[in-house]
Amino acid sequence: MSFEPRTPLVSSRLPQVGTTIFTVMSALAQQHQAVNLGQGFPDFEGDPALIDAVTQAMRDGLNQYPPMAGVPALREAIVGKIERLHGHRYDPASEVTITAGATQALLTAVLALVQPGDDVVVLEPCYDSYEPAIALAGARTVRVPLNPQTLHVDLDRLAAALTPRTRLLIINTPHNPSGMVWTAQERDQLRDLLRPTDILVLSDEVYEHMVYDGRPHVSVSGDPELAARSMVVSSFGKTFHVTGWKVGYVAAPASLMAEFRKVHQFNVFTVNTPMQHGLARYLANPAPYLDLPAFYQRKRDLFRAGLASTRFELLPCEGTYFQCVDYSAISDLDDASFCRWLIEHAGVAAIPLSAFHAEAPQRQLVRFCFAKREETLQAALSRLQAL
Ligand code: PMP
Ligand code: GLN
Repeated sequence: MSFEPRTPLVSSRLPQVGTTIFTVMSALAQQHQAVNLGQGFPDFEGDPALIDAVTQAMRDGLNQYPPMAGVPALREAIVGKIERLHGHRYDPASEVTITAGATQALLTAVLALVQPGDDVVVLEPCYDSYEPAIALAGARTVRVPLNPQTLHVDLDRLAAALTPRTRLLIINTPHNPSGMVWTAQERDQLRDLLRPTDILVLSDEVYEHMVYDGRPHVSVSGDPELAARSMVVSSFGKTFHVTGWKVGYVAAPASLMAEFRKVHQFNVFTVNTPMQHGLARYLANPAPYLDLPAFYQRKRDLFRAGLASTRFELLPCEGTYFQCVDYSAISDLDDASFCRWLIEHAGVAAIPLSAFHAEAPQRQLVRFCFAKREETLQAALSRLQAL
């Protein structure tokens, strides 16, 4: 048998995908010694008590493979936390799986739930990993824009986009990049909208503890009917200021979780053991996550107050650690060019909103991350105020 040499050597599964904007902007920020308010990560350390708990687990010899679904004590701690906060009890044995961060959880969930030829609905703007995950599953992404004024879900447009081909709806609250937070009323409307369908929900709740001005985090797990058709994803990287640890989890009814685990076991199989034991121990004290809204609200308020004296127009920030601004009073550049310009001329890195859209967005918007020390925020503000 003879083979024709292939040119190119591989045909890409993801031909449209390059390096993520977060990586590109962080590299540029470093190159220009800019204050990096682009990629979403804190520039301060996590709690020493958490570091100690993980270190102790390593010293205690907890360093071999854990069970495939995750360390039981961590799954139990997660179950207890969700039950206390949202009133829904998952079974730790069959309904919670520990993942290597939320990104792996999202990809695994999509691969497990979606068949080639299905439609998956996302609300645009949306996190950049959703569409590649859908593409890898051989499915089609259907984008439903958020209401451009309020940045909340437009339930009429969502209803119009659902068809018998729709297998999965991906939602995200608190929402990256807009900072929008779902209300209980919107969740009720979503439940009613999905009632006559067999559509599943993948709910990305990685910013669950970053909600401001007394708002609750409205999890799909808090509505029994929605919980029965949903996978909920979260990430300890966000909650405990350790984005590099890449430990998260998925909670879902056993029938969905069984499918999730089939993919998970051949994807990562298990997630690192000492981090899981450390997190399980640390979660016994709820104060660190219950204090998070006040902790980040102070940063949000400081940053917004500083931006008020610039020519940026502030969008609302109900949750997450992101603040979006309209820069049209400062520049006519498209958002990616503006971000490059901002790094080079102001020494501050941001993320262009086009990274979260398939087509260029209508408004000139960029996103700043305020998960930073006060000195960092002040340094960025004085540069932005000088523009
Ligand atoms: N979803 C959203 C909305 C995010 O902003 C991020 C980035 N942290 C992730 C998922 C991925 O989280 P992780 O770092 O745990 O993979
Ligand atoms: N989730 C982070 C953000 O939105 C970035 C994570 C990443 O670099 N992929 O900034």
